[in-house]
Amino acid sequence: MEEFIYSDAWCGGIKRGKRLKACVPGGSSVPILPHYLVTKTAAGEDRLMTYESLADGGFATGSMLGSGGFIVYDEDQCIVRNTWNFTRFYHHESCGQCSPCREGTGWMEKVLWRLENGQGKLSDMDLLVDVAKKIEGNTICPLGDAAAWPVASAIRHFREEFEWHVTEREACMQGNYGLVREKMAV
Ligand code: SF4
Repeated sequence: MEEFIYSDAWCGGIKRGKRLKACVPGGSSVPILPHYLVTKTAAGEDRLMTYESLADGGFATGSMLGSGGFIVYDEDQCIVRNTWNFTRFYHHESCGQCSPCREGTGWMEKVLWRLENGQGKLSDMDLLVDVAKKIEGNTICPLGDAAAWPVASAIRHFREEFEWHVTEREACMQGNYGLVREKMAV
């Protein structure tokens, strides 16, 4: 993973020398990894670009190679905004056949929108995890899981940043990511 992100032979590093904040290694549906789990596993081994290594740690500290769509977030990127954007996509894509997906993706989109726009509550994170759990494994096709995993994993690893969107509303509305960088010590 380190070679893939930073070597000139592959991605050539992060633009403007910014620091790595997170990575979604297998398309938008797979769990996000915070910077300290991108190049190393929780056991301290090198994280490799293989199905096995990326899955090391399960959903607690690992992710999936999935479709191989590789997204790197630098320190300026907002996890709440990106998670809302993923959910917006899955809500739009839901065909509506199963109620957990049809209703749940819409609820997640609404709650994430209000968090991103300074109207969230501290209880919203537990609400989002609860909705994601009710979607996961309860739908006909994998789109339900694909919508639930990014939300659950973002809150698992970046709960503090979600809370910041509630407790620091003014800075949040102004997009002051400097504050969140400082607090999260990326
Ligand atoms: S899980 Fe699949 S089949 Fe069910 S509503 Fe969502 S997109 Fe449709």
